[in-house]
Amino acid sequence: MSLIFDLHSHSNISDGLLSPAELVEHAAIHNVDVLALTDHDDTGGLEVAASEAKRLGLQFINGVEISVTWKKRTLHIVGLKIDPQHPPLKFGLESIRAGRHIRAAGMAAGLEKVGIKGSLEGAYQYATEGIIGRIHFARFLVDSGISKDTKSVFKKYLVKGKPGYFEHQWASLEDAVNWIVGSGGVAVLAHPGRYDLGRINMLLLLNEFRALGGAAIEVVTGSHTGAQYVEYAKYAQLFGLKSSQGSDYHGKGLSFMEMGRLPMLPSNCVPVWHDWPEALL
Ligand code: AMP
Ligand code: MN
Ligand code: MN
Ligand code: MN
Repeated sequence: MSLIFDLHSHSNISDGLLSPAELVEHAAIHNVDVLALTDHDDTGGLEVAASEAKRLGLQFINGVEISVTWKKRTLHIVGLKIDPQHPPLKFGLESIRAGRHIRAAGMAAGLEKVGIKGSLEGAYQYATEGIIGRIHFARFLVDSGISKDTKSVFKKYLVKGKPGYFEHQWASLEDAVNWIVGSGGVAVLAHPGRYDLGRINMLLLLNEFRALGGAAIEVVTGSHTGAQYVEYAKYAQLFGLKSSQGSDYHGKGLSFMEMGRLPMLPSNCVPVWHDWPEALL
């Protein structure tokens, strides 16, 4: 019997709905055998999640999802098997979180210009455990009746060109990969199909990512289509990168996919866990 790996998930330390312990319980109920918690720019949930996983007999992987700016675009780099105490990683994430506060103020100012008042305080009410991000604004805008659901609120207010979007400089790709690899972890390019890069830029990105020490890309993720599983399996093969999979679960109503329901990686993929002890149990 093969194990079920879910190597991308969020708790309320970032923009998920469940606490780290609840998230682990949710994974256990959905038959996940190996879970990575990968909160955005914050490792504050790992300790509690790891001990809950131990209690429930689940294998747990320390993870993070780092926000990066590459060629004026935002990318996400997942770090797996990281050491959250590694000083460059720890301080690097701290500086990203500080930047998130400035960005949130900028987002609120943009919303204020179109007549939406109080969004900064409103968003922070949903961000009590860790980082502040766009989902917290989305939840405020939905709950105050300004938009009907998360999907429409992003489209109307929170994406590039819209009033609540604030241009922000995240970490460099090089720093993010170095922090992860320097801490003993594995750097994984998250959901490459979401960046709308075009083939040339995707080739440039994968080339640069691999040269910097990146080891894997997400092939099967909640935000890829079936055709994209095949497409990114080919990219992984072309660059000799390993393949990862994860639901990117955020909680009911926010997630792209439920946990434990991902299809298997295409057969031409080398799983990122192929030489991990977790794969042997
Ligand atoms: P941030 O890091 O603050 O820019 O927030 C990014 C997060 O917002 C992503 O990780 C998703 O959880 C969420 N997100 C982005 N786009 C959408 C969308 N169109 N609908 C729902 N959630 C989204
Ligand atoms: Mn998110
Ligand atoms: Mn992401
Ligand atoms: Mn994610």
